[in-house]
Amino acid sequence: MNGSMSYLDGNAAAGELNRIFAVDVTNAKGQCGNCGAKGRFADAHLYMQCPGLVARCALCGHILLRLVHMGQRAFLDLRGMTYLSLDTTE
Ligand SMILES: [Zn+2]
Repeated sequence: MNGSMSYLDGNAAAGELNRIFAVDVTNAKGQCGNCGAKGRFADAHLYMQCPGLVARCALCGHILLRLVHMGQRAFLDLRGMTYLSLDTTE
């Protein structure tokens, strides 16, 4: 991963992800599929200088999530996470 690329924290994905999910995904907890780190999605490093957005693990840099809008379709790739746990009481 290029260390010179700037990123935001996972909270910056709220607007894009709220277009798809009814719950606030930035409050979700997940596990990195590469290093096994567990934490809040909001702590991920979010890169927006690409087509769509990319969230990377704050510890190892592994890609956790990709989201791209093409026309009327949204493509969401979550395979970088072992799981994503959502609080449905909100
Ligand atoms: Zn990781």
